[in-house]
Amino acid sequence: MIKHSIELAPTKTAYWLVVNKSKIKLTVNGEIPHGSFSQLALTAKAEQVCLLGTLAGQECYLVIDHDQITDDMNFVTPREMLSLGEEAYSLAARATQVALFMQTHRFCGQCGSAMHLVNWELATLCHKCGHRCYPRIAPCVLIAVQREGQILLARSSRHKPGSFSILAGFVESAETLENAAKREVKEEVGVEITNLRYVGSQPWPFPHSLMAGFIADYVSGEIICQPEEIEEAYWYDVDKLPEVPAVETLSGLMIRQVQQMMTSKINK
Ligand SMILES: [Zn+2]
Repeated sequence: MIKHSIELAPTKTAYWLVVNKSKIKLTVNGEIPHGSFSQLALTAKAEQVCLLGTLAGQECYLVIDHDQITDDMNFVTPREMLSLGEEAYSLAARATQVALFMQTHRFCGQCGSAMHLVNWELATLCHKCGHRCYPRIAPCVLIAVQREGQILLARSSRHKPGSFSILAGFVESAETLENAAKREVKEEVGVEITNLRYVGSQPWPFPHSLMAGFIADYVSGEIICQPEEIEEAYWYDVDKLPEVPAVETLSGLMIRQVQQMMTSKINK
């Protein structure tokens, strides 16, 4: 549970996730700053600090630093913190999302009055009209489509040439994850799928997505790329893959899972 503000004891030893423009400050050694507030020369008002959780058995606090514009080289995205392990990544993802929420919910969307932080849950409340807001979480599906010995990989307009991944798309209002997966695959590459198997999920704080991964079987259809969305898409033999995302990402993990499943089938 989030505590919004603390009595800042200058000598309190903890981990500190300083967030500036959705990036997090690391030490010169690439670690999360650890020590006391005064030792690390941190500055913040009480409402810019909140407890996020624990890291390696010690309290970890978010410090919101969006007033200062910085080109400090030691600020990294949560994605660059995937290599620091799941616990650190999860706190980093939470830190940037909480910071964004507090930054973008200062006024009521219904009546325009100032919003106030609720002190027992992560929410903002308008004392004038009662409107309450929670951090936005945007569910997104990842779909690894497979057929005999092959996986469907695509490159969207946002990715550099030569770099491919499985298909992804946002869930629309009142849609199930499964229907979103079928719709996205049909829209993006014109292919019908079936037999969806849930693999797992991963928070993706860019800025507030939650990825849910499915492996699915191909049914029918030739690949036709959706203009403006997909630059190119192909069936790849699992033993001849192009450049794909790192294994720390859910998409990278799923691609390797499909690869392993098919390789063990071929070898049987
Ligand atoms: Zn209001």
